[in-house]
Amino acid sequence: MANNLRYDNQVVVVTGAGNGLGKQYAKFFASRGAKVVVNDLGGTFNGKDQNKGESRVADAVVKEIKEAGGIAVANYDPVQNGEKIIKTAIDHFGTVHVLINNAGILRDVTLRNMTDADFDIIMDVHVHGTMKTARAAWPFFKKQRYGKIINTSSSSGLFGNFGQSNYAAAKMAVVGFTETLAKEGAKYNIHCNVLAPGAASRLTQTVWPPEMMEVMKPDFVVPLVGVLVHESCKESGSLFEAAAGHYSKIRWERSEGLLLRPDESLTAGTILNNWNKITDYSNADHPTRPANISEFFEKASALSSNTA
Ligand code: NAD
Repeated sequence: MANNLRYDNQVVVVTGAGNGLGKQYAKFFASRGAKVVVNDLGGTFNGKDQNKGESRVADAVVKEIKEAGGIAVANYDPVQNGEKIIKTAIDHFGTVHVLINNAGILRDVTLRNMTDADFDIIMDVHVHGTMKTARAAWPFFKKQRYGKIINTSSSSGLFGNFGQSNYAAAKMAVVGFTETLAKEGAKYNIHCNVLAPGAASRLTQTVWPPEMMEVMKPDFVVPLVGVLVHESCKESGSLFEAAAGHYSKIRWERSEGLLLRPDESLTAGTILNNWNKITDYSNADHPTRPANISEFFEKASALSSNTA
């Protein structure tokens, strides 16, 4: 059945769809019956020309889709003007069902050498851009009681990566943003998930050797996204990795921790003496919300003084 997943009558917006992963998403959804907005400003991988990209890449993908019998329209706006991208979907297809926030750039530099511009452009494209498209699509999702969002993170955001503190900050921001949208969208049947992909593209061509680029085809990431945004999928607020045929779900883990009576007897020394307990994962859980402080408070109040 999964081989036959279809998206007939679905309007799918893919940002940064002129190259790499976005291009493969756009072609996939169009080949399965969706009407696709192919957004791309045609910029360089490092965003040096964010304001003067050219439309050729988006046009080329639209041409390819149409030649294969699919339906697509190009949009050339930067994701920072996300409302214009969604407007293209509305103007041409009347609504939007699926939003894939994929556009991205890199500006790798160690913190010591990072300029404000290096940080700001990365936050602008990845965080601001993701918010702008999602916010513009939201009223349509809400009204039709249906919407799917995939926001794109990165292993660099989840785990950190040398020389990418700007990119890592932005990509982790995308996680918190998406987890929140999933909560806000739950009662409207709006499902939002995060993807940390790995794929051969302009962004990775200087990082991986040629044989690895071959295995890391963007095509191998596409099927997971296809499942997540299919109408049959109820997954929301989750984080997935996909690369080279490997797919996995990532979650938070909270140690059982240490419970101390919250009074003047609670000192750094007590924390230090119990460090193993705080960091012990043997009775861990996998939270989707903050620790229940009021429950802890009741239990802790019943404890005798920490110094006793
Ligand atoms: P890519 O460079 O091949 O494609 C990104 C596209 O986004 C480009 O066509 C570019 O013109 C477009 N773009 C850039 N800024 C834009 C803007 N402001 N508005 C509209 N379009 C814009 O890169 P890719 O590897 O396919 O990356 C896609 C996404 O996946 C990015 O968000 C990236 O950070 C993320 N990602 C990729 C990898 C990987 O291994 N390739 C790993 C982790 C995360």
